Amino acid sequence: MRILVTGGAGFIGSHYARTLLDGGHAGFEDAHVTVLDKLTYAGNRANLPAAHDRLEFVQGDICDLPLLLDLVPGHDAVVHFAAESHVDRSLDGAAEFVRTNVGGTQAVMEAAYRSGTPRVVHVSTDEVYGSIDEGAWTEERPLLPNSPYAASKAGSDLIARSYARTHGLDVSVTRCSNNYGPYQHVEKLIPLFTTNLLSGLEVPLYGDGRNVREWLHVEDHCRALHLVLTKGRGGEVYNIGGGDGRSNTEITERLLQLCGAAPSMVRRVADRKGHDLRYALDDSKIRAELGYEPRIDFATGLADTVRWYQDNPRWWKPLKDAGAEGAPCAS
Ligand code: NAD
Repeated sequence: MRILVTGGAGFIGSHYARTLLDGGHAGFEDAHVTVLDKLTYAGNRANLPAAHDRLEFVQGDICDLPLLLDLVPGHDAVVHFAAESHVDRSLDGAAEFVRTNVGGTQAVMEAAYRSGTPRVVHVSTDEVYGSIDEGAWTEERPLLPNSPYAASKAGSDLIARSYARTHGLDVSVTRCSNNYGPYQHVEKLIPLFTTNLLSGLEVPLYGDGRNVREWLHVEDHCRALHLVLTKGRGGEVYNIGGGDGRSNTEITERLLQLCGAAPSMVRRVADRKGHDLRYALDDSKIRAELGYEPRIDFATGLADTVRWYQDNPRWWKPLKDAGAEGAPCAS
């Protein structure tokens, strides 16, 4: 069994790759893992074992079709994580998001189709649905993305769907809520606030802090992805929900408490342009069809995550020094 993981040096892709290499998915203990990653500012080779007899690391761009046509044949599955993933960056420059997320996904689907790859999972996000004041989105909801990031992910979802419909590629699309956990880049909300507080810096909270997101531990997300890979149906979309929604204010208060910091460490900053108010997923499809349910409750997962950042300054301090400490918070 050979699995190609694109974006496997990023936060979620590396968690999935490490779990496979650690034998954490039953029946896949012998799986060979190829990671294809461009190592953008968000990719970090140190997120993966330096050497492992079942790991091959390839530095390259998912937009490079000749490279993909060389690499993809012989793999039994592709799990496609690679993307530009930070909403705030997409507000300053959307072109790279369209290039990588739309163009790159098209190249990955094309290479999988031409290589006869038996199974593909395209990893997407709840942000493609837009913003919802009450209730929750099912997979049937129309895509109404608001940020350039979300629009580029919506485009990538439709590209994946077109390869399923037109070419019969066995590809499923997943749409997950916000993830948290170890190895997440310090530009994203929870690591940014945690590492700021651990460094004695203020945390920049957008607007009135009422924006609500569902938070799912990266381990639950990766377990759901593996269920979709092994049991999901091609051509289908699966929402991967994270349970209760939390406002940015609540997240901030919890992090202040876990880091032992005072409320005066919060600095209000102007709201993000076009900031979506609330995301909420109806994930009854994946629960009923594939038996998924999250296992890590938020209070425990968040405390473990803060502890990981406390214990691993050598991982995050270089990223912080590269300039992420003052950036506004993520979605
Ligand atoms: P990340 O930014 O941490 O990692 C992205 C990885 O992709 C990096 O290693 C980067 O080097 C690589 N990459 C970027 N452009 C590339 C290119 N052109 N070619 C090859 N590699 C490239 O992102 P993440 O948080 O791990 O997200 C992974 C996927 O999950 C993304 O598709 C994202 O849209 C989706 N997702 C993320 C979340 C979340 O909360 N983080 C939630 C739902 C869905």
